[in-house]
This record gives sequence, C-alpha cells and structure tokens, in this order.
Amino acid sequence: MNAKNSVPVARAFDVEAVRRDFPALHQQVHGHPLVYLDNAASAHKPRAVIDTITHYYSTDYSNVHRGLHYLSERCSQAYEDARGKVASFIHAKDAREIIFVRGTTEAINLVANTYGRKHVRAGDEILISALEHHSNIVPWQMLCEQTGGVLKVVPVSDAGELDLEAFEHLLSSRTRLVAVTHVSNALGTINPLRRIIDAAHAVGARVLIDGAQAVHHMPVDVQDLDCDFYAFSGHKMYGPTGIGVLYGKAALLEAMPPWQGGGEMIREVSFERSTYADIPFKFEAGTPHIVGAIGLGAAVDYISSFDRAAVARHEHELMTYATELLGSLPGLRIVGTVANKASIVSFVLDDAHPHDVGTILDRYGIAVRAGHHCTMPLMNRLCLGGTTRASFAMYNTRSEVERLVAGVGKVMEMFRR
Ligand code: PMP
Repeated sequence: MNAKNSVPVARAFDVEAVRRDFPALHQQVHGHPLVYLDNAASAHKPRAVIDTITHYYSTDYSNVHRGLHYLSERCSQAYEDARGKVASFIHAKDAREIIFVRGTTEAINLVANTYGRKHVRAGDEILISALEHHSNIVPWQMLCEQTGGVLKVVPVSDAGELDLEAFEHLLSSRTRLVAVTHVSNALGTINPLRRIIDAAHAVGARVLIDGAQAVHHMPVDVQDLDCDFYAFSGHKMYGPTGIGVLYGKAALLEAMPPWQGGGEMIREVSFERSTYADIPFKFEAGTPHIVGAIGLGAAVDYISSFDRAAVARHEHELMTYATELLGSLPGLRIVGTVANKASIVSFVLDDAHPHDVGTILDRYGIAVRAGHHCTMPLMNRLCLGGTTRASFAMYNTRSEVERLVAGVGKVMEMFRR
C-alpha cells in the first residue's frame, strides 16, 4: 500500500519473477522443460492461490452462512470477501450482483433457465454469434426447444470478425437476448462489445457476455460496458476449477426466478410453499464451492497486484511474435487474422492434421490444444476440422514461442511430402 493515499502499488511486471510464482511450470515433460501454451483451456495456479486453498482446508474451514461458531464465521467472511473482490475486479456496482457458480457454462445455463424461461416466448429470438463456444450455443438451443424461441446467428467473416451490419439487421423487437463472447477461444477475436450492447439495448434486448477468455487479459468494467450479464470461469484466470461467476444487474437478478432449489437459497420453507432469499443467495442453492470462491478471490488479488497494462502488453507481444514466426513458415496458415485479438494463435498445416501436430509437440514438452475447441459451428463455417491453438498467459516467454515454432518446424519436416 502507498501510505500517503492508500492506493495499492502495482507490482512491476517481470516475467521471470512471475514464473517463479507458478510451481507447475518448472517440470520436465518427455525429457524437455515444459512449455505450457494451453492457457485458454485452463491456466496454472500461482503459489498465492495454492497457499490460500491449503490454508482454508487446513485451518479456517467450515460450512458458510449457517454456523454461529468461530470457524464458520471466519470462513463465511472469507467467502463474502471473495465476492467483494470479484465485484471490484469487474467493477460491479454491488457485490450482490456476483453469483458464484461452477463456471461460465453454469452461468450461461443459469440465465437460460431463469431469465430465459421467464421472458422467451414462442417466436421470440435469441441472437448469438458464429464465434461462440458450445456453452454459449447449446443452453440457448435447449431453451428454444422448451419455449418455441428462435435461435439466430450473426455471421463471421473468413478472418474471424463478426459482421456487425448483419448483426444490426438481425436485431428486432423480437430479440429478447443477445449472447456473445468477449474474446473468441478459437481465434482470439475481441468483439466490439460497446457497439453490440448499445445496438441490442436500442431494440430492448438484454445482453449476456461470455467473458471466459477476457477477464484475465484485459480490464473489464461491467458498468461501463452496460452489459446485463457477464460470465467467466475461475480456472482460466489462475484460480481453482469448479468455481466461476455470473454477474447480473441487481434489478434483473432480483426479478428473475431461482433456478436450483434447496438449502441456502430460501427464506422460509413449508410444505405448502417456500419463499426465497435475496440475491445473490437466491441463486446459490446448496453448499457452495467455498474454498474455490476464496481461491478465486486470491487469483483476483494476484492478477490485480500487477500493472495490468504491462501484462496485457506482454501477452500481446507474445501473440504478435508467435503470429510473425509461425506465419512465415511455408505450408502453415494462421486462422483468425483480425487486428483486434487477444492471447490466442490458431493455425493449420497443409500437410499435418491438428491432432498430429498437438501429439508431436507434446513429445517435445510443448502443450497446445488441437481440435474444434468446442466451436464446431465456427470450424464448419471456416471449412476446417479443427486447428492447433497456442494460447498465452502472463507467465509465457519469447523463448517459449521460439520453442513452439521450432517444434512446428519439426512436425513439418516429418510430414513433408
Ligand atoms: N466460453 C468460452 C469462450 C470458453 O473458452 C470456455 C472454456 N473453454 C467456456 C465458455 C466454458 O468454460 P467452462 O468450461 O469453464 O464452463
């Protein structure tokens, strides 16, 4: 803390110091030092998160909210503090707007099953984009099957950019909800959210943003964006698995029916009827992932301890460097070539299947992802079975990019016709 004005002083960004915070990075895989470039699937955890989890399971652990005893009070306080940290992290107006869920997938299903079931009638429309992860497609399809709603899809260009004119054309007074990703997990495209949200609001639609690939790479301000819902997962942002967040504007959450019923989410229960707790508890039935939420709070503290602009610059430089080096290899094509991208480089080789590329790179200790990345409709649109994807986190380095490129070069040699 800066004693004068109590503003936390950001830790200077030094990638080697950051790497020392992540124990899992320092291991050999198949006889090579690990190069972990599968961060879009899940990121490794800093010591601060691991220690927080260990501490709470070792000492201050108890169930939350119900206990009058010391440990329960301490644990409940830490759980609610974590909610407050997440609220500040995305600049929510009120910690009550933060619902702890299992992850992005559960957050989106929650909105589909509450807001969606209440407001979507036969013939109403839900608008998604061709870039979406399956978790921002399938819940809406299920909702449409139940309600007679109609799912419409904003097309995407060959470069991986949303067709905003088509989007504005597809919007109408029938549109109840627009659900789009902030950053594409397959291509890295950053969507122009302000324009999308303003246009959707102009026709009276609500907007859900899938922030799974965004919150840890760029500052997110949900009030400034004015989105109605924002969903993300702890495990991609250096936090634990099994915990994530649904942000929703308080007025919307208050008016939404609950989804899952049980303990924690009620005010009073009788056999005739039950009444429900206030938000956020109305949406947190059962014992929550207590230590997961507290660990997520530690991840938020960790990310927030850095100069975030410096981290974003570092990640952007890695992406640009990888794009340049890979893009110069004959027989390799970068997939997703818009200017505004974050932390992801997807590519295909003329001569090798993405699964072969991923398997061979693994032999050199390089972890990437290969396949459809849970975006089958996008892959179909781009006429691809899949891609190989390298995705960067704050702890990756230029020399790791060079190892990736050397590894891809070896794959190419093996498959050269
Ligand atoms: N949306 C996007 C853009 C993602 O990248 C992912 C995870 N790959 C998800 C949603 C689903 O997240 P989770 O599996 O943590 O629920």
